[in-house]
Amino acid sequence: MKKRNPFSFLVYLAILGIVFFVILSIFRGVGNDVPYSKVVELLRKEQVKSFVISDGKIHMKLHTEYDGETSLVTGISDPELFRQEVGELVQQQYEAGILESYDFVADKRLSFYDLILPLLIVGGVLLIVWFLLMSRASSQNAMSNFGKARTVLGVPDGKKVTFDDVAGADEEKQELQEVVDFLKDPAKYTRIGARIPHGILLVGPPGTGKTLLARAVAGEAGVQFLSISGSDFVELYVGVGASRVRDLFDQAKKLAPAIIFIDEIDAVGRKRGSGLGGGHDEKEQTLNQMLVEMDGFGRNNGVIVLAATNRPDILDPALLRPGRFDRQIHVGRPDVKGREEILKVHAKGKNLDETVDLKVIARSTAGFTGADLSNLLNEAAILAAREDRPAMTMADINEAMMKVIAGPAKRSRVQQRRDLKTTAIHEAGHAVATYNLPTQDPVRHITIIPRGQSLGSTWSLPKGDISNMTRNEMFEEIVSLLGGRVAEALFIGDISVGASNDIDRATKLAKDMVARYGMCEKLGTVSYLGGDELFIGRDYQTTKSYSEKVAGTIDDEVKALMDQAYARCKDILAENADALHRVVDFLLEHENMTGEQFAACMKGNQIGESSDTALLDAFETED
Ligand code: ADP
Ligand code: MG
Ligand code: ZN
Repeated sequence: MKKRNPFSFLVYLAILGIVFFVILSIFRGVGNDVPYSKVVELLRKEQVKSFVISDGKIHMKLHTEYDGETSLVTGISDPELFRQEVGELVQQQYEAGILESYDFVADKRLSFYDLILPLLIVGGVLLIVWFLLMSRASSQNAMSNFGKARTVLGVPDGKKVTFDDVAGADEEKQELQEVVDFLKDPAKYTRIGARIPHGILLVGPPGTGKTLLARAVAGEAGVQFLSISGSDFVELYVGVGASRVRDLFDQAKKLAPAIIFIDEIDAVGRKRGSGLGGGHDEKEQTLNQMLVEMDGFGRNNGVIVLAATNRPDILDPALLRPGRFDRQIHVGRPDVKGREEILKVHAKGKNLDETVDLKVIARSTAGFTGADLSNLLNEAAILAAREDRPAMTMADINEAMMKVIAGPAKRSRVQQRRDLKTTAIHEAGHAVATYNLPTQDPVRHITIIPRGQSLGSTWSLPKGDISNMTRNEMFEEIVSLLGGRVAEALFIGDISVGASNDIDRATKLAKDMVARYGMCEKLGTVSYLGGDELFIGRDYQTTKSYSEKVAGTIDDEVKALMDQAYARCKDILAENADALHRVVDFLLEHENMTGEQFAACMKGNQIGESSDTALLDAFETED
């Protein structure tokens, strides 16, 4: 980057030359090429008002027009001869007042343009040189800024965030309160010799408020907040990331007390040597620099590093050692009380009508993160605004809920009647299978309105943690996932690709049961899939740590499990064919079916009308 392109300089020079030439020809005139005899003739005819000879040229001003001009310039090869020829005449005309002025040898006298032109040119050159230097200087500036950390100082939108803005996360806030206290009054801690952690890692799924919490800590303590995203360190050029890290920590030390916040630290803190190409790549240098900075931090110098990630498992273990990110705070999905509080925070400044009950919404949104909830209220507000209503209603929230869960309804994607029937049979298959499986949660809602990627959906309660599922539960989940495909096979006689996602999920579950959770007799209680994760390109792949023979058995067992589930599903649907067709008919007519309506249909009862808040009711839970 230090060498400038010599070519561009030549271009500048060429442009300069052209400009020079044009200016010269404009001011000087290339000459009208009037013959010498004509010049003498004009003079004799008393047409000339004034003339000057300079530089082998005669410049004349005329009393009348010649060739449409009142002035002309032409070469004069021998001014001395000209003088001899017309000298007397000129003298006479001058005295008679016909010739106002004349000069046979003006070479030494500089005309206005002679004086001004070089100045203009020199000025122009200087200007261009100055420009070149300036642009070079600024590009050098950019170069030297390159290694600087692209931090955002302070809170980006200038709004101070406090713990009050973070709703629900009481335990997290309590843990972070200590950090706030330390930043407010470090002496209190240093006096006793207490060691405050250098680094705190906020771990949790996206949207749970990790960034918000970090900003709130800075806001509460009233200290500087330097935030940077892990991906900002990752540059094409080797060494840049490392120098950014250095710069970031230098800045923070100058501003201390301060908080450094590294968002998405997994982008830079990934296990070393795990990438393809291994060795000392850019990321490793960056990570090493980060480790060095955190070690060389000294005790209690008023800088605390917060970092956030949703993949703590892929972080380099060195990052988690004492003196570095030795404390982890888990930021989880909020519980029902937390959700209500978050809704309260985000309902501020929005107009809700009296039908809206945040408690009910909180109860219906198990598994939602803070970001989801904020999104939900915003979507509802948009729906109300679109229809020019002053306040949002519970019906808006119900509609928004559908949007947030599964993407906006694609009503415009009008399906063919036949497609709709396939979708209805598919969804009814899921629902009927689920209804007849004791371990599966009740069906909450069925729809054949296409949303996002899927043509229709059947929702039961959002699944909780997999960590406490039993073998039977997992098996029955596979059965329920196969419901769509089996129904198509049974009642249409042809199968569609609409079930591919179901089949993927079912297969993955079966594979996990066999090879991860040791749930099949033939393979015993051995986990074959738990190995290290290897980073390949943009993906993680589990390394295989079993023999080809075992691999064969795993495949066989997965197949057997899937066949078993398929058979069970087929039995259920065949037995309940009548009920299933009632569900299909209802869906084709109404497109949506609530859990209540579905249950009534299965029992052969009268099906009631659905209410405005059907989906919310459907999701109502106690947790
Ligand atoms: P993360 O960093 O964990 O991905 P963010 O902190 O960026 O999540 O949260 C995204 C948005 O979600 C926040 O700006 C805020 O509006 C909302 N949010 C998340 N958690 C909470 C919470 N506990 N209280 C209030 N709002 C929250
Ligand atoms: Mg974030
Ligand atoms: Zn399906």
